[in-house]
Amino acid sequence: MRKELQKGEPIVKEKLYYKDAYIQSFTSKILKQNEDANGTYVVLEETAFYPTGGGQPHDTGTLNDIEVTNVEEVDREIRHYITQQINGSDVNGQLNWKRRFDHMQQHTGQHILSAAFAEKFGILTNAFHLGRDTATIDLETPELPMETALGAEELANEIVFANRPITIRWIDEAEAKTLPLRKEPTVKENIRVVIVEDFDYNGCGGTHPNYTGEVGPIKILGWERHKGNIRLEFACGWRTLRIMHEKQTVLKDAVRLLNSKESDLPNKLEQILTSQKEMDKALRDANDKLLAYEANELLEKAASLPSGKLVAAVFTDRSMQDLAKLSVALTQDSEAIALLVAQTGDNIQCVCASGKAVEKNMNEALKSALPLIEGKGGGNPLSARGGGKAVVSAEAFLEKLIAGVSE
Ligand SMILES: [Zn+2]
Repeated sequence: MRKELQKGEPIVKEKLYYKDAYIQSFTSKILKQNEDANGTYVVLEETAFYPTGGGQPHDTGTLNDIEVTNVEEVDREIRHYITQQINGSDVNGQLNWKRRFDHMQQHTGQHILSAAFAEKFGILTNAFHLGRDTATIDLETPELPMETALGAEELANEIVFANRPITIRWIDEAEAKTLPLRKEPTVKENIRVVIVEDFDYNGCGGTHPNYTGEVGPIKILGWERHKGNIRLEFACGWRTLRIMHEKQTVLKDAVRLLNSKESDLPNKLEQILTSQKEMDKALRDANDKLLAYEANELLEKAASLPSGKLVAAVFTDRSMQDLAKLSVALTQDSEAIALLVAQTGDNIQCVCASGKAVEKNMNEALKSALPLIEGKGGGNPLSARGGGKAVVSAEAFLEKLIAGVSE
């Protein structure tokens, strides 16, 4: 049966992952099965499943082929949350090794990267988060120059490629005081120290490989300011390769689409953006010219009213922006009255505008016609806009507007 921890006891017996972080499968007796707020769980005599803790996410896998979805240490017991009850008294446990080894790589990579920032630049790490795609550390510095980031990354990778041993020691408070630990230990006994040879001493309860080489390449991906510190994103090992592959795919697509060399991509994109801006401007200018031309043509055919020169027209599928611009061009003529109606699907919109010499009030003309289309809108005596539903035809609505400026 299990027993309480004794002072100085180096290893918790049931924690196989502390005996050997590489155990992927094991057999064990079941101590109990029960339920708590998180679901059905099983407690084993010994286990290789690592529970959530110390910035390292829990393992997943199976117990007698039944899925283990979560592992947490609660009240000094390791609870394996399972999708259904297990029959019998023994289990065969299988870890999702890919997930665990990934955690070992990111987690140990973090030790090394944080130590590199501290060793080379005196910058301390005060938080670590292991996410699904990348990991982050929060560095105690208000800013991070590129050379500093690259310098730390280089040292971290030197430590990786030197393939230094990573060892674990269980020590007490007195011995902890003699070691250059990165942080004050949070416990007084059974302090677990992870040592990267001649480089880093760190109190940690996570799982680590035996050599730094297994961490694989450490790559800083970016950083940003976060609450007065720098939050730095990085990846280690297989993740670095996966991210590299994803970036490579994006780059290759861009190279193909832009028919450019990889190193010329930024220049090529800049050229395209500049030329697009120029084209947009040219298109706007041409459109304005076209509107001026259209305005002149409409003015030539304008009906002569006592109140002014009436330009009244119905358009289909024309934007309000376009109508507004056309009305501006039309009312350059101080005697012009422009009543422009556009129908788009079930909606009717309109612009009513007049030149400076016209005395009719466009806002009033619009407001008297809007009820016909259950519409809303407004403006000032010289220019008003509105819109509503096509419950009458656009032509009928226009007639109403014309009546408003004819009286
Ligand atoms: Zn660790």
